[in-house]
Amino acid sequence: MARLFQVGAGSGGMVVLDLLCREPQVDGIVLVEPDVYAPHNVVRHLLPPASVGQRKAEAAAAWVRERRPDLALDILMVDILQPEVQPLLLEAAQGCDVGVCAVDNEPAKYAFDALMRRVGRPWTLGEVLSGGIGGWVHRFVPGGPCYGCVASYLQREVTEAPPAPPPDYSQPQAAQAELTIPASRAAIHTIASLHAMVTLELLTAPADPATTGFTSLLWSLRKVEDIFDEPYRSYRFRIPRSANCLICGIREQAATAGKDLDVAIDQALARLAPS
Ligand SMILES: [Zn+2]
Repeated sequence: MARLFQVGAGSGGMVVLDLLCREPQVDGIVLVEPDVYAPHNVVRHLLPPASVGQRKAEAAAAWVRERRPDLALDILMVDILQPEVQPLLLEAAQGCDVGVCAVDNEPAKYAFDALMRRVGRPWTLGEVLSGGIGGWVHRFVPGGPCYGCVASYLQREVTEAPPAPPPDYSQPQAAQAELTIPASRAAIHTIASLHAMVTLELLTAPADPATTGFTSLLWSLRKVEDIFDEPYRSYRFRIPRSANCLICGIREQAATAGKDLDVAIDQALARLAPS
């Protein structure tokens, strides 16, 4: 039995929540989501139009309870970036086995990473690329690369304007709305389903990136010049923990940083090698 700690119930997060809550081995979920369900959410969201105006967490909780009345569900309608709620989040995360990150902004991903490393839990992150051209699913385990290592490897920056193709769980109200092409609902559901699959794998077979092939999975959904040669293709990345990472650093890594890490680095450098 497993208890999940999920942050985010947007158009992607809600799909992940729906898929995971139906699995019998999931018997508890903590859902963190402060937002209100807005009219513009409806076109891509699993929640019905009748839920507009409700807090997403409450509507999502009703959805889950309808399908899994036996599941222990707690909702926290707080923003993961609020300093004053950190003790509450820490306590909630400590009571969970696996983290599920479905937030759509970089600061929140770093905050989630920090929380998971503090409680020593594995976690997953799903990201739909702008325009729904594809998406990422990342898998983090204690002692492995942190989100900072991955973001640094993928040359992301903590800014409002990440380099293309930026992750986007389809947010029409994004800071740069004119630059953001909303992903289709089909694209969001595809990547969210992959996110759920990877999370389930983590529940049944705790992942060791050294042996299970990838830390980050990139899935193409469309052919895009200079980005994806063809649609429906997976690319696996074994991103190593960075010795220079300002967030997690490397202290205890020396013992394991042998041949296997060299292999991982070689593979990472090969970039976009077909799986
Ligand atoms: Zn790191």
